[in-house]
Amino acid sequence: GQRPVTAATVDAVRAASAGDTTDVHMGHIDYAAYREAGGYRLLRACWAGRNDPESVIVTLMASGLRGLGGAGFPAGRKWRIVKHEPGPRLMAVNIDEGEPGTFKDRHYLGRDPHRFLEGALVAAWAVGIETIYLYLRDEYHGLRAMLQTELDRLRADPPVPDMPEIVLRRGAGAYICGEESAMIESIEGKRGMPRLRPPYLAQVGLFGRPTLEHNLETLHWVRDILERGAEWFTNQGRHGRRGLRSFSVSGRVREPGVKLAPAGITMRELLDEYCGGMQDGHTFYAYLPGGASGGILPASLADVPLDFDTLQRHGCFIGSAAVVVLSDRDTARAAALNTLRFFREESCGQCTPCRAGTAKAVALMERDVWDTALLGELSQVMRDASICGLGQAAPNPFDCVIRYFPHELEAS
Ligand code: SF4
Repeated sequence: GQRPVTAATVDAVRAASAGDTTDVHMGHIDYAAYREAGGYRLLRACWAGRNDPESVIVTLMASGLRGLGGAGFPAGRKWRIVKHEPGPRLMAVNIDEGEPGTFKDRHYLGRDPHRFLEGALVAAWAVGIETIYLYLRDEYHGLRAMLQTELDRLRADPPVPDMPEIVLRRGAGAYICGEESAMIESIEGKRGMPRLRPPYLAQVGLFGRPTLEHNLETLHWVRDILERGAEWFTNQGRHGRRGLRSFSVSGRVREPGVKLAPAGITMRELLDEYCGGMQDGHTFYAYLPGGASGGILPASLADVPLDFDTLQRHGCFIGSAAVVVLSDRDTARAAALNTLRFFREESCGQCTPCRAGTAKAVALMERDVWDTALLGELSQVMRDASICGLGQAAPNPFDCVIRYFPHELEAS
C-alpha cells in the first residue's frame, strides 16, 4: 500500500534545510595565528615574482579542482578564461550557501577564514582582479561579524602591497541568490534574478565586467594544492576518482556533520566509515545526494560513487555534496513534496515553466494518487524551458520518486 507522508520525513529534510544557525565558532584561526602558521607566505611568493601566474594555473588544472558550489566547472580553466578577457576584471565569492542540507562553507569559514581569503587573493593575482566581492548568506550573522573583523585586520596589516580591495556584501535570505548570475544582480543592488546566458559571467559579469566567480570552498583548497602540489590532491580519490570532497551529511545518521572524504566515495562507505552508521532504530532507506535539487536515490543504489558524472547517469547530481539520509520511517514521496514546496517558495518568478511549474507540481503531488504521466510532461517542460538551474532541477525529486520508488505511489 501507499506509505504515509510522515511528519518525520518533513522534519528530517526541514532540519537539514534550515541548517544550524549557531554559526559563531569561537576558536577560529585569526589573522595573527594564520600568519604565524605560514599563512600568506604563498601569496607573498606570488607577489614577489617567485611564482608565475601560468604555472599556478597549470598546477590548479592538474589537480582537477572543480567548482564546489554545485556546477563543478574546472577551477583552473575558469581562471584562464577570465584572465584572457580585457580588464578591469572583478571577482565574486559565493558564500550564500542556501542549498538545503549544505553547511560546509560555514564550517570552513567559521574555522579558518583566511585560507579562502588567501585563495581568493592568489586567484586575484593570477587572473589580474581589481576588486573582490564576498557575498555572504545573511543567516550567518555571527560569521559576518567575525569575517569583518578579520578583513579589517588584513587591511590594517596587508601581507602584500597594492592588495585588491575586498568588499563584504550580505545576502537577504533568497535561495536564488546562490545562483551565480542572480548573486551578481544582487551585489549590483538589483533584485536577485538569474540572467539569460550567454554572455557568460566570465565575459560580462559584475557591473558589466569580466568576472571570476567562485564558491568559498573552491578557494579554500587553493593554498593547499599550490603548496603541496597537484598530486597531493589527485592521490586522494577512491574508485578511480581524484581529489577530496566535503560532504555535509544530515538526516538519520548517528554522526551528522561535515565529512572530508575522498572524491568518488559511495554512500554506503560514507555512512559506515564517516557517519557511524544509522541512528538506533532506523534502517537506511534512501538518500538525497545533492541537497534539495540533486534528486533522491534508494538504498539499493548506495554503492555508486558520489561524483559529478556517475550520479548524472542516475538522474541525480551531487551539487554541493549535501547528503540527506532517510530511513524506513521516512518516505521519498514526502521528501520530494517538501523540496517542491521549497522550490515553489524560492522560485524568483521570472519565467513561467518554473513559476507555474513548481506550483503545479506541488498541487499534483499533494493528491493521494499521482498523475505520473502529467508530472512527466511537466518535468520535461521545466527542464527544457526554465532559465536557470532552479527550474531545470526542480523536477529531480519527483522524477526520482516515479523512477525509483514506485511502490510508494501504489494506491492503498
Ligand atoms: Fe527564476 Fe525559476 Fe526561471 Fe530560475 S528557473 S529564472 S528561479 S523563475
